[in-house]
Amino acid sequence: MSAKKTFYLIGNPVEHSVSPQMQHAAFKELELDYEYIARKVANEEDLDDTVDEFRSKNIAGFNVTVPFKENIIGLLDEVDGIAKKIGAVNTVVNKKGKLIGYNTDHKGFYDSIKLDAGIDIKDKKTVVIGSGGASKAVCFALCHGGVSELTIYDVDGIKTEDLEAVLKHNFKIPIKGIFNKNDLGISVKEAGILVNATPIGMFPKIDESPVDEEILHDRLFVYDLIYNPHETLLVSAAKSKGADGMTGLGMLVRQGAAAFELFTGKKAPIEVMRKAAEEALGI
Ligand code: NAP
Repeated sequence: MSAKKTFYLIGNPVEHSVSPQMQHAAFKELELDYEYIARKVANEEDLDDTVDEFRSKNIAGFNVTVPFKENIIGLLDEVDGIAKKIGAVNTVVNKKGKLIGYNTDHKGFYDSIKLDAGIDIKDKKTVVIGSGGASKAVCFALCHGGVSELTIYDVDGIKTEDLEAVLKHNFKIPIKGIFNKNDLGISVKEAGILVNATPIGMFPKIDESPVDEEILHDRLFVYDLIYNPHETLLVSAAKSKGADGMTGLGMLVRQGAAAFELFTGKKAPIEVMRKAAEEALGI
């Protein structure tokens, strides 16, 4: 057995997170005497105090979830290159007293669409709905993977414009932000991949979808970041149109696996983590 270490998940809310179950299952599988605790952080002042406490206790590492993935950056000693570009950190590792930030949502999505869904994103016209925190990581992953064109739609046009500008600064791919549903319909008709990065359709509002069914078609692959319910209305509507689709459990597991590897330096037991997540979600 290894020396005891404690890892945390901080955010608000954290009660519904399945990260503790996933990480504990992985620790057990590799016989690591580590613990992982979800801790609710009320506000930004509390975030400052929590990071000070982690430093003083020399905590080994922690995950960060909504709404602190952006604000945590200013409290760290270093941020990995891609996380800095994305502007969001969800994993922090204590390396010899220095707090270093990473973004494993980016890798989680990239690996999941490639390995869980078996989709080659290269040269595919892609539409992403939503331009919040998760969308940023997903859009960077899609651009790194070489999509031929990226269209981003959000009800909040300012966020979309900001994300469009950051992506254009980093990639030479044609990227456009759109703001009305008509344009969304046109873009989806021409696309090979559609990603939902909004919470529309998430439990308990499972009878909602971010797009109208009539714009879906059988040449699409739909990746819905939502993982509860296991099949969203969007994915089932896509399947009924002859398209293929998947919800976000694979991304959830793979971002957790990437965090585990940063925390421990060991290869994550992905299938053990997936099973633990499924059990925790009652799938
Ligand atoms: P977020 O920061 O709140 O971003 C969501 C964005 O979608 C916001 O800009 C929101 O605009 C916009 N939006 C809301 N309704 C819309 C609609 N009908 N059409 C277009 N845009 C709309 O949330 P997030 O943290 O990025 O998370 C998004 C989803 O991804 C959540 O369901 C989350 O659970 C999921 N997620 C999954 C994983 C995974 O591992 N599978 C990881 C991260 C996130 P307003 O702010 O104006 O409402």
